[in-house]
Amino acid sequence: TKQQGKNNYQLYAPSMNTKALERLTLENNLYKALKRGEFLLHYQPQIDLNTGQIVGMEALIRWQRDEVELISPAQFIPLAEETGLIVAIGEWVLQTACTQNRAWQLAGLPPLRVAINLSACQFQQGNLVQIVRQILQQTGLDPQYLELEITESIAMQDINLTITVLKELKAMGIYISIDDFGTGYSSLSTLRDFPVDALKIDQSFIRELWTHSSNKAIVKSVIALGHGLGLKLIAEGVETTEQLQFLRSLGCDVAQGYFISRPLSTEAATQFGFVSQIF
Ligand code: C2E
Ligand code: CA
Ligand code: CA
Ligand code: CA
Repeated sequence: TKQQGKNNYQLYAPSMNTKALERLTLENNLYKALKRGEFLLHYQPQIDLNTGQIVGMEALIRWQRDEVELISPAQFIPLAEETGLIVAIGEWVLQTACTQNRAWQLAGLPPLRVAINLSACQFQQGNLVQIVRQILQQTGLDPQYLELEITESIAMQDINLTITVLKELKAMGIYISIDDFGTGYSSLSTLRDFPVDALKIDQSFIRELWTHSSNKAIVKSVIALGHGLGLKLIAEGVETTEQLQFLRSLGCDVAQGYFISRPLSTEAATQFGFVSQIF
């Protein structure tokens, strides 16, 4: 009956409100975290497999909610993306990473690229190019030392937009890579039309190189394909010496992963950066 329906609704409503409230609280906390400076960046070194030298650092965000708790991006980036707060957070990441890289250069570290993850909202915002240009000017970082990573799935959402934006960024001299390559659905023709510098082979292929025998064939083919298109290949999630040797034997250009180093605090990354020769 109508009466029962009404009662059901009343019973159901409070839990709905609790969920919405929790979300709102987290959202509000994310906003405050940005204002209070509770976000920080860790940096994971990337090694040139030919020379054994550090060529880059990927900036990875963390949320230092209190003295003990360091929250991983998987726990807050999705909500930040849903609410659009990622645009402001992403701008903070760009600003912070470019400032840090400039500081490293001024401190005498061998020059390296700082790689930044872009989210779909940032990419679709329309003023990304303008923001990046402004931050480069302000920090004095040479564009060749900034790498922007967009995932294969973001790149494929609106191919024409992707090509337009990437062309502008590339014209500025910025290094561009396709992240999580192999997990999306880019075709050979779209890949050919994307003005990018490098493909980052997704870590799922590297992790299971030996457990899934076909992954060896996939990695081998992706490296050949990338090189055939004139691109560099970056392997992520390299955890063992066997994986590193295998990638080297295939001519993979750059490696990143726990075998080389975990993501490091700014201080630790600075120390690591000074030891430019890893092997
Ligand atoms: P991603 O861009 O694919 O980054 C690589 C992730 O793999 C990082 O996790 C890194 O710590 C982890 N990793 C690196 N080497 C290894 C390894 O050898 N083994 C294993 N098992 N894992 C490894 P993290 O830092 O938790 O970041 C997760 C994701 O969060 C990133 O995936 C990226 O999509 C997103 N993210 C991180 N920072 C930012 C940011 O500043 N902006 C945006 N939009 N997204 C970010
Ligand atoms: Ca990445
Ligand atoms: Ca990745
Ligand atoms: Ca990923």
